[in-house]
Amino acid sequence: MFPTLTSKLPNTGTSIFTTMSALAIEHNAINLGQGFPDFPMDEQLSALAQQAIAKGHNQYAPMAGYLPLREAIAEKIKLLYGENISAHDSITITPGGTNAIYNAFNTILQPGDEVILFEPAYDSYIPNILVNGAIPIAIPLSFPSFSIDWEKVKSAINKKTKAIIINSPHNPTGKVLSDDDMLMLSSILKDTEIFLISDEVYEHLIFDEKKHNSVLKYPELFERSFVCFSFGKVYNCTGWKLGYCIAPPSLSAEFRKTHQFNSFCCFTPTQVALAEHLKNVEAYQSIGPMMEKKRNFFINSMKDNLFTLLPSHGSYFICATYEKISNLPAKDFAIELTQKAGVATIPVSAFYKDGNDENVLRFCFAKKEETIIEATRRLSSFAV
Ligand code: PMP
Ligand code: GLN
Repeated sequence: MFPTLTSKLPNTGTSIFTTMSALAIEHNAINLGQGFPDFPMDEQLSALAQQAIAKGHNQYAPMAGYLPLREAIAEKIKLLYGENISAHDSITITPGGTNAIYNAFNTILQPGDEVILFEPAYDSYIPNILVNGAIPIAIPLSFPSFSIDWEKVKSAINKKTKAIIINSPHNPTGKVLSDDDMLMLSSILKDTEIFLISDEVYEHLIFDEKKHNSVLKYPELFERSFVCFSFGKVYNCTGWKLGYCIAPPSLSAEFRKTHQFNSFCCFTPTQVALAEHLKNVEAYQSIGPMMEKKRNFFINSMKDNLFTLLPSHGSYFICATYEKISNLPAKDFAIELTQKAGVATIPVSAFYKDGNDENVLRFCFAKKEETIIEATRRLSSFAV
């Protein structure tokens, strides 16, 4: 006899990031698909982590995270968003932003609950909802502005709606939610029992003098929220997989119940290093302008080809349509570009539950200038 496995995610395949990165390696293509920098991480932070290991910070950290790190996060929030957040009761260090989001869903969802999300949506949200037996309710962002139609949100809400997840700056479009968006969300949720999960991993990657409207700035939203962050995006070390979830004390207490039994705690040396490095305000505030220059450099380098770039005000990403080059669906075109042009991208159709296809590709511009020059040279000779 052999045990029969009943999949919890029967219709979920391998993530598009894994698929496109594998294809990039197979075809020796430049990888502008999966979002990761190809330049070194913050050097001071790297040195601090090495020192932390050498100094013996190599045993378990506390379950909620190394306290000086949580205190440093609380101070940063006070400075940036003017809010007092308790390091003891409201901040939990997690193994990456992905885990913070997953655990937030785990904490609140029961089978049959509905969760509203906006498509294109980061690819982990729907599997996180499904694995809890809950139901994803996808609302498309208006194309091509990628703004939220709040009337659609109002009509999607019903007695089964347990949560809404938002993401700003947005992956894959680089769209940033405005103060008006946040106030509208606040007024919609005011008289409901709906939780909010806010994915703010690109908090510092914001351009064009836009402000990050963190949920932490809106007390009436924060009281029902799990706000998720990632250090990987702040210091260009995506492989560190360290993040945190901020939620009011009663929600954090419930969050920690599951956190303690799926990870218990996170890698200690990086927490010790970050506790020190977060005191350097300039280090996290310089990353936005640095990435904005890369976005501008990428936009300039794309001028000689037939892709049509869409606006991006944040994140590592910018999207483009390609109607002047090909009629292929986005996934097929992304495969063709990898194989024939030697540049890997992400088809935005992979961010839609039902594969809705506006023929858009996502490019990651968090790369060295030489990488951008060579990738765009290849794109231009393929698509002129
Ligand atoms: N949310 C979004 C929108 C992302 O793009 C990512 C990927 N980096 C994450 C969450 C996950 O962050 P982490 O790598 O820290 O798990
Ligand atoms: N967040 C990254 C992206 O959107 C990928 C992370 C991952 O590979 N899971 O490209």
